[in-house]
Amino acid sequence: MKVVHVAAECAPFAKVGGLGDVLYGLSNNLMQLVDQVEVILPKYKIIKLDSMKKKGGVDVFFDGKFQKISIVQSMMTGGVILTFIEAPYFFNRDEIYGYEDDITRFTFFCVAVIAYLKTKETPPDIVHLHDWQTAIIPSLIKTKREMSSKTILTIHNLAYQGVCQKIDFEKIGLTTHGFIHEASLNLLNGGIVYADQLTTVSPTYAKEILTKKHGEGLQNLLNQHREKLVGILNGIDYDYWNPMTDCHLPFHYGRSNLNNKKKNKLYLQKMLALNAEKKAPLVSTIARLVPQKGPELIKEAFVYTLKMGGQFVLLGSTADPEWGRLFSDLKDQFANCPDVHFELSYNEPLSHLVYAASDFFVVPSHFEPCGLTQMIAMHYGAVPIVRETGGLIDTVFNEKNGFTFQIPTGEALTTTLKKAFKTFEENEKLKQMIAFGMEKDVSWNHPAKQYLDLYKGVLSLR
Ligand code: ADP
Repeated sequence: MKVVHVAAECAPFAKVGGLGDVLYGLSNNLMQLVDQVEVILPKYKIIKLDSMKKKGGVDVFFDGKFQKISIVQSMMTGGVILTFIEAPYFFNRDEIYGYEDDITRFTFFCVAVIAYLKTKETPPDIVHLHDWQTAIIPSLIKTKREMSSKTILTIHNLAYQGVCQKIDFEKIGLTTHGFIHEASLNLLNGGIVYADQLTTVSPTYAKEILTKKHGEGLQNLLNQHREKLVGILNGIDYDYWNPMTDCHLPFHYGRSNLNNKKKNKLYLQKMLALNAEKKAPLVSTIARLVPQKGPELIKEAFVYTLKMGGQFVLLGSTADPEWGRLFSDLKDQFANCPDVHFELSYNEPLSHLVYAASDFFVVPSHFEPCGLTQMIAMHYGAVPIVRETGGLIDTVFNEKNGFTFQIPTGEALTTTLKKAFKTFEENEKLKQMIAFGMEKDVSWNHPAKQYLDLYKGVLSLR
C-alpha cells in the first residue's frame, strides 16, 4: 500500500504546533506497516536539509496561467520520503502561516500537489490530508476524476477552517459546490463533503464536534457525514520524545533513575536564573498563547503557584497580539523574580528541557482536539493538570496519572493545583502518579494500526 500525506507542517522541519508532531510520528510509524509513505510539504524558507535533491519541475495551472514549481526530495531516517513543493513566491518567507494571502498560498500548494502526483506512474492508494490547508484535495481528485486514490481528511482543529472568497475558487478552477457555508466559502467544509473518510484526533473530540458548543458552525454538516467520521487518539513519537535519549537533555533518565530528572530541574533553574536552592514544585506550561489554550487560566496558575511558594515557567509562542502583550507585560513585571520565567518565543530545544525539569504541567484549555503537551509531560515524568475537554479527557485520569478539573474558572484550577501541591509533600503518591504516567503507552503503535485499518476499509470501497 502506498500512502501520501499532504500537510502544512512536519516536525522537525516545519513545526508550529501539534500538527507537525503528528505528521512526523504518524508517517514514521506507518512506515513499518505499509509499502511506502511519502510526506508532501511546501518548501518554506526554514527548510534547509543537506540531503535534498532536485527532482525536476512541474507546470501548475493556477490563476489563469502555468507556473513552474520544482520538486525537491529527501528522506527521513526511517525511510519516509519527504517531498517539498518549491514555489519561492509563496513559501520562501520567514513564517509558515499568518500572511494575508494564506488562502492563495495553500490552495496553490494543493493544486501543485495534484500536478506532482499526476506525474507518478501509479497513483498512491491513499492520499491523507490534514486540516484546511489541504482540504480542497479530495474535491480536486473527485470532481476532476483524474486520480483513483482514496482520500482521508484529518481535522486537527475545527476552529481553523480556511474561510475564503469566490475569487479564490476562480484561481483554482474549481466549482464552489460543496464549499458554501452560510454566507461564505469554506475550504474545510468542502473537505468534509468530498473526503472518503474523516478523522479527528481523539474519540472525545469526535463526539464534541457534533455539538453546537464545539462544532464551530460545522456541526450540522458533520452530523450529515458522521458515518465517515472516526476519532483516533494521537500518539507521540518515542524516538523524538524519549527522556532516555533526548539530545536536548543534559541528563537522560527513565522510570528507574528519576534522580537524573532532578538534575535536569537544577540545570533549567540555573539556566533561567531561578532560585535553585528552593525545594518547591516547578509548574510549567508550553503552548501557543491563543484563547483556546486558556491564557487567562495560565495566568491564574502562575499567580497561584507563586503564592504557594512554587516556581513557574512559561514557554509560549505569541501568535495572538493581545495575549502576547499581556504576557510580555507580565514578563517585564517579574523580570527580577527568582521563581518565574516567561519565555515568549517558539523554542524546540527549550521545550524538551522544560518537560524534563517540571514537576507539574498545566493545560487549562477551553477546548483541546487531542493535546500532545500533556502526553509529552507525563512521558517525561511531569504530572499534568488539565481541564476536562477533548483529548485531555481521553489521556489524563484524575489522581491516577494527573489532575483534572471541569469548570474553566480560576477557582476550579487553583483548587486542583492545591491538591497537586499536596502530593508534592506526600512524596509516595506523587511517585505513583509519575510512574503511572511514564508507563502509559502514548506511542504511535496503536493509533498507526488504527489508521492502517481505516485505509484498508476505505480501499475496500473501490
Ligand atoms: P497545538 O497543536 O494546539 O498547538 P498540541 O498540544 O497538540 O497543541 O501540540 C503542541 C506542540 O507544540 C507540542 O509539541 C509542544 O511542545 C509544542 N509547542 C507549543 N508551543 C511551543 C513553544 N512556544 N516552543 C516550543 N514548542 C512549543
